[in-house]
Order: sequence, then C-alpha cells, then structure tokens
Amino acid sequence: MRRLKLDLHTHCFELIRYSEISINFIAKLVASIKAKGLDGIAITEHHNSDYGYKVKEIVKHSFSSEVLIIPGQEINVWPVQIVELYLDDTITFRFLAHPGYPGDYYDGMADLHGIELYNPLHDWHIDKQKVKEIAHKYQLLLLANSDAHNIDDIGSYYTELFLEDLISRAKG
Ligand SMILES: [Zn+2]
Repeated sequence: MRRLKLDLHTHCFELIRYSEISINFIAKLVASIKAKGLDGIAITEHHNSDYGYKVKEIVKHSFSSEVLIIPGQEINVWPVQIVELYLDDTITFRFLAHPGYPGDYYDGMADLHGIELYNPLHDWHIDKQKVKEIAHKYQLLLLANSDAHNIDDIGSYYTELFLEDLISRAKG
C-alpha cells in the first residue's frame, strides 16, 4: 500500500460539454496529470457521470491505465453540493464540496465520508476551524481538491491518501 496523490474534484469537461471526447484531449489530460506528479483524478461534472466513465474506459484501453481515473459527479442537495465518487459499481464515496457555499450541513451528513478543507475557488470563505469540527463530529476525511475548470488547473490542489482508506470509509 502506498499513498496516492489524487485530485478528487475536477470539471475540465464543462468547457467542451457539447463536443465528443477525443483521444487527443485524453492524451493531453493524461500528460497533464502526470506532469503534475499526480497518480490520478476524479472527474466530477455537475449532474453528469458519463464523462468520467468514458474517460476511464479510454484511459484503460488506449493509455493502459497510466493514471487512475475515478468517475464521479457533483450534485446539488440543498443547501450543499455533494461530490460522489464511484469507486466501483457498488461503492460510492461521498464528500461535501466547498463547505459554506452556501451551506455546511444538510440532512444526509451521516451518509458522507469526506469534506473539503481546501479548494482554490472557495478558500476565501471556507471556515477551516468549523470544517475541522464538522469532520471530527462526522468522522470525515479532510480533502484538498482543485475544482479545476480547465486542464491547466488540475492538480493545483490534491490530497495524499490511501485508496483503501476511501474504499473502507465508503463501505462503512
Ligand atoms: Zn465543483
């Protein structure tokens, strides 16, 4: 077991939402992930898990899984936004994205496994002390993610963690 450097919140496909995913684009994405020294990313478009699954397939078949791609999506559950990561067909890791934007709490806190402490788009308002208290109360993994909306920003923030930790928290 070793720690992986993972950016678990990215949106680079929003920019090309209406175009097909091309091999060229995936080649750039894989190169960018490796250039940043990351082991992988999660692809978490808003209410759309298709991109993540498509990229995962292409990286597996055309890039021999050189980097880890975790399919996911970001969903609105008033008053918060939750990111779901599909670790496999039955295991979903859920974390609260950018707490405080607009809410810190929702009815499903008991179903969460993680919470963002750092997010470059939202650091200006994230109450770090409060987030640590919430994480302690609900036993949540603290995360740093880029929330990238283009390739260059991927990996600007990342978390070092054990994949097994994500899996066991999501199972538990
Ligand atoms: Zn986001």
